[in-house]
Amino acid sequence: MKTQIVLFFVLLSGFGMAQPNAFVDSVAEAYDRYREPTLEHRRFKHADILPLIDALGEDDRVTVHPAGKSVEGRSLSIAEIGEGPTTIFMWTQMHGDEPTATRATFDFFNFLLAEDEFDEFRRKLLAETTIYAMIMVNPDGAERFTRRNAMDIDLNRDAATLATPEARSLMSAFLEIQPDYAFNLHDQKSRYAAGEKDPATQATISFLAPAFNEAKEWNENRKRATRLISIMIEALETRIPDGIGKYNDDYESRAFGDAFQAKGAATILIESGAHPGDPEREIARRMNFVAYLAAFDAIIDGRVDDYPTDRYDRLPMNDDDLFHLLITGGTARVAKGEFRADVGVNREERNYNNATESYVVSEALAVGDLSDERALEVFDATGMTIEPGAVSEKTISSLEELETLDVDSLLRAGVTAVRLEGENVKEGPSPKPITVTLLERRREPFETAVKRRADLTIRENGDVRAVVVNGFVIDFKTGEGAVRNGLIIR
Ligand SMILES: [Zn+2]
Repeated sequence: MKTQIVLFFVLLSGFGMAQPNAFVDSVAEAYDRYREPTLEHRRFKHADILPLIDALGEDDRVTVHPAGKSVEGRSLSIAEIGEGPTTIFMWTQMHGDEPTATRATFDFFNFLLAEDEFDEFRRKLLAETTIYAMIMVNPDGAERFTRRNAMDIDLNRDAATLATPEARSLMSAFLEIQPDYAFNLHDQKSRYAAGEKDPATQATISFLAPAFNEAKEWNENRKRATRLISIMIEALETRIPDGIGKYNDDYESRAFGDAFQAKGAATILIESGAHPGDPEREIARRMNFVAYLAAFDAIIDGRVDDYPTDRYDRLPMNDDDLFHLLITGGTARVAKGEFRADVGVNREERNYNNATESYVVSEALAVGDLSDERALEVFDATGMTIEPGAVSEKTISSLEELETLDVDSLLRAGVTAVRLEGENVKEGPSPKPITVTLLERRREPFETAVKRRADLTIRENGDVRAVVVNGFVIDFKTGEGAVRNGLIIR
């Protein structure tokens, strides 16, 4: 039975490659056992991981080393496990809004500390390697869910200057550990595609063996990184086919990955990305877990040095120019007339409620012939007209009054916004899937109107076929689509 399943995957993969590692497959199947249940959402904070760090410290097999403090005094620490001569250093979330690998690293420690049918592997791994994990390097950024630290510095441009306490801690840890392997763990934008395929597929995981000089030369540790990445690709390619990309390899002397590659560690960048229908990035989280496992298994098996690099070499480059939504083939209709227009829309996430929640603000960034552009979602408006969404005739005097409106009927009539008069509200998510505007109603030229907000009405034979509210399509003909949140605009 097992053989048949493996054979099936080999056939499915279509490359005629060697069969995937059966051990990695069986641990991956058991992943839910190890998944850290307290990190259910992306927007956890330093206070949420402290109990997990403490719990690691209470286990005899783990030593937790204090590693300094952030600008605002939050503790940094390094969890150490294993007693072997091969040293592995992983660090996560040096960008505060990139939490996926923090979750995966706790999952991985849960795996390492469990007792089950994989004990033989654990014994071997911990006898042959020592793993150091600096989890959440930028806790102040995590607090605000921002990339930068509390000094507004990007820690990954501070590897040379070391102006921030967090960067100094990371550099000292590296210099003290002198790791053989360094895992630089980040998140990437949802608008990254893996390669140039059309339609585009999201890069759920990207890899890079960072360059160590401007000429992007190859030394032994950078080559070793590409072999190890090839092993990780092998473990992931049947799980997220078309979802793996290669990150930009331009040399950046101020970045830690590049600096550590230059200092002799085989350094690997893993970027976690989105996957269709997975805004919490649970798939990337699981893929991180599988990638670490495959890498460490190969390290203790001595397979890294002979492993071919072709999987890394042929990995498609990431493309970060995608639109979230592209409306193609339509005709824009405005007061002054009609013209042929595609519309490209992007959705940007904003923090609120102390960065424990987020809402989306969408913009129609481009109008015109966008036939060379790609998007994560395409609405074919061929033969249809696109016009700025209408504002309701009736104004409301409070957000509560919105509850009394039949929003569905308004949308079906091509009304995408309601005007609020008399209450002072902040920008934020609307309680209903419709825009709430405090702006005076006025007729705008098409481009200005769509640039201000991605609220559109799409008509087919004169009837409302679909609306776009805050960058999300609802197609009344197919019943598809939903608005993540309407927007209150000041
Ligand atoms: Zn990052």
